[in-house]
Formats: sequence, structure tokens, C-alpha cells
Amino acid sequence: MLTYDLVVKGGNVVIPYVGVQRADIGIKGEKIAAIDTEIADKNAAKIIDATNRHVFPGAVDSHFHIGIYRPLAEDAVSESTSAASGGVTTILSYFRTGQDYLNKIGPFREILPELLELSEKSFLTDYGYHLACMTEEQIEEIEWLVKEGGVSTLKYYMFYKLLTLAGATPEANNYLMINNPVDFGFLYRFMKEVGRVNQLYKEYGTVSLSIHCENPEIIRATQAEVKANPSGVPMKDYSDARPPWQEELAINEAAIIARHTGCPVNLLHLSSQKAVEAAIDVSQRYPEIDFLLEGTLHHLGLSNEMALDQRAKVNPPIRSNKDVQFLWNAVVDDMIKTVVSDHACATLEKKKGDLWTSLPGFGGTSLMFPVLITEGYHKRGLPLHRIAELSSANPAQHHNLYPKKGAVMVGSDADLAIVDINAQKEVTLENLYTAQEFSPEAGMKFNGWTETTILRGKLIFEKGKVRGQPGDGKYIKRPVNLHHPQ
Ligand SMILES: [Zn+2]
Repeated sequence: MLTYDLVVKGGNVVIPYVGVQRADIGIKGEKIAAIDTEIADKNAAKIIDATNRHVFPGAVDSHFHIGIYRPLAEDAVSESTSAASGGVTTILSYFRTGQDYLNKIGPFREILPELLELSEKSFLTDYGYHLACMTEEQIEEIEWLVKEGGVSTLKYYMFYKLLTLAGATPEANNYLMINNPVDFGFLYRFMKEVGRVNQLYKEYGTVSLSIHCENPEIIRATQAEVKANPSGVPMKDYSDARPPWQEELAINEAAIIARHTGCPVNLLHLSSQKAVEAAIDVSQRYPEIDFLLEGTLHHLGLSNEMALDQRAKVNPPIRSNKDVQFLWNAVVDDMIKTVVSDHACATLEKKKGDLWTSLPGFGGTSLMFPVLITEGYHKRGLPLHRIAELSSANPAQHHNLYPKKGAVMVGSDADLAIVDINAQKEVTLENLYTAQEFSPEAGMKFNGWTETTILRGKLIFEKGKVRGQPGDGKYIKRPVNLHHPQ
């Protein structure tokens, strides 16, 4: 009788928090069933040869925007394909009510089931959602979301505040389809409830609030200054219009409210030296509060000193070379704990016109390993097991997926990315497997591309061919220790 459905043989297994070990991995059904120095061929129904390759835990891309600019189900199919091609096996996507996404408002008790139904047959990777509350009614649903909905991470967007205050244009106000302010009073109420529910479920994980920390009142003023006197270099102007110190201010504002409400916070997409310094500062000032520092592939891989046009517009903006180097130091020093894509598939239509009319955001999920391996491992000596932590184990832990996800361990889901850390390829639209019609990284050369991606024992990407089907990916209720007890 065969012992394993699939055996990954001869690879260098990259084990988070441990190191790299030559081993064979035996998979039974959807789970890792054995890790051994040698598993005999006769025990395997199917063998994948991973000789001279590195076997990482499948990446958990914990910052994604499925359906922001394109119909949600269609976007999920194409962009989870892009993720799968890059060794990502779990996507955690942000969702909110209002315009974009599903263009509706209401309680999550009604909207979450609709969102999950649209998602059900659309993903090639496993997935979950972080939800942004926009009304007091939605804040009151947080306990239900954790217990029943499988959503244990929430989001607050600081820059929406101005859209909802007196003096906002009707178009601005209509964008979120709400008639309540989402100001600091709202954030206080939101954090208080996240803090309360976190206490209720702390034996299962951390219920946290992800915050986009930029201060919209400062941006209103600094953007007007740059518009009146632009340098003409688009990404430089955009960075000056939203200067790093307004991130610093926003992080301090969020941290003080977090401290008074006991709310764990995920400090999203830290783009600059000032932002990282502020994040480290508040973590040390309020050690009783759980602050997670997140970095993104584009802030680590791009700088505004490269030749980039308005299509590379993103919030917060792409910063200077000096900022990029500082971010890498924070990654190497283990201050930044998760690296994510913040993938938002944007069409050229959304990016047309100039810097000010182009919409923010773009995709890059499939560059997870290439950016971390080229810029981190090859250029800066970041150990490979640290890359497995940043891309998989840490996001899985902080977002309540561990050890179902993020671990190379007997009993964990057999989610693996087999990577050639040395092969070099140029970024082309073809090798990103995305519906996005451009890439700010196009033409750049990276090492460390994924050859094969395995999701719960099933091959979903193999040697340039997409093998998975929409619907292979399943919704993962979080905390997994509450909803999927072992
Ligand atoms: Zn985002």
C-alpha cells in the first residue's frame, strides 16, 4: 500500500525559525504527513523532484485588495492565479462596504455571506478577509465576525476621515455611502470594541485592527503646496505631497488611542524611515500593546529615484533610496515582521492622465519570493529561513492562521512553494500571470522565481503552467484554532 499521495524529494526545506534542512516531505491528502531524510519512492503515489531547489512554506500574502478595481469574482480568478504562480498559497484580502468592491452598504451579517458566495468558486489559493467597519452598526458586529464569520482582523483607513466631515463634497461623501463621520471618535469606538473582543478570544489568537496611517489634514495642505510648485518628477512629487512625517504623525495618533483602548494594531505598509522609527518608538513606549510592523514589496523593491511614471502611484508613496535602505535594515533586524504585496490589480484605464488623476495602487503578489530573495538574501544576506518567516510564518501567526498555515510541520496544510533561488528572469507581464496591463517592475531582473506551488497537496502551478482551477482555494475561518481545531 502506498503511504503518501505526494512526496517532494531531495529539496532544501526552508523551516521558519529554524533554518534550511535537506529533507523529503511526504503528503497525505491535504496535510504534511512526514518530513524525513529519505522517503522511499515505493511509498509515493507521485514524486516531485526538488533537487537543487528550496522548498518554502507557501506564502501567506496578508495584504491584498481583491475586487477593488474590477468585478470581484473575475478579479479573484485572475489575481489568485498571479499569487499561485508566485508561490502564494493563502491570500488575506481587505474588503469594505461603499463604492468599489461591491458598491453597497449594510450589516456584515448580510454582506459577508454574499462576499463569500462570490468568492467560493473564484480562488486558486486559500483565502480570508479583513473587514473595514464604516458604521457603528458594523463595529457592533465584530464579536459575531470572530465567532461566526471567521474574520478576526479589521481595518481602519485614516484618510477617509475628510470625506465624511462637514465641508466634504457630496461626491466624496457618497464614495463611502455612509452619513456618519469616520473620525478619531469613530476610531476610538472601533478600537475599544476590537480591544474588548480580543480579550474574549485571546486563547485562540489576536483580534487586531489594521490601520492605514496617513494624516489626511496634513496631506490636504502639503498636496496643495506640491501642486502649486511641482518638480515635474511624478513619484518625487507624490512623495512630497504625502511626506513621511505625516505617516509619523498618524502612527503616533493611532498608537495613543490604541494604548487607551487596549487594541492590537497592524501598522500597514510602512514606507519610510520616519514611519518605521515612529512604529518602533510607539512599540517601545507602549510595550503592553501588540504592534505589528508591516512592509510591502513595492516599498522595498522600488524607489522614487527610479524612472517611474504615474502608474506607480500608491498610498503611502514610493520613497527615496535612503528610505528603501532603512526599510531593509528594519527587515533584516526583525523589526518589520511581515512582507506583503498590497496587491490591487489596476487597469491602465484607472491609471490614465497625470499623477493627480491616476488612481492609487497596483499589483505585485507574484514577486514575493523574487524581491525577498534577490534584494534580501542575495544582496543583504537575509537568511532564507527569515524569508519564510516574513512571507509565511509571521503573517500566519499574526493573522490567526498558524500552524494550519505558515509551518512546515507534520499536521500542517501541505502548502509549499518550490523555488529556484538562483535562476534569473526579467519581469514581463507574461511571467506575472496577472490581468494587470502594466507592471512598475517590468524590465527589472530578479532571482528566486517559484517553479511549483502546492496547495493542500494539490499542484496549482508547475513549471510555468497554471494547474489549479478557480474553486480549488477555500475560505479559511480565523482564528483557525477556534474554527479548525486539530
Ligand atoms: Zn492596501
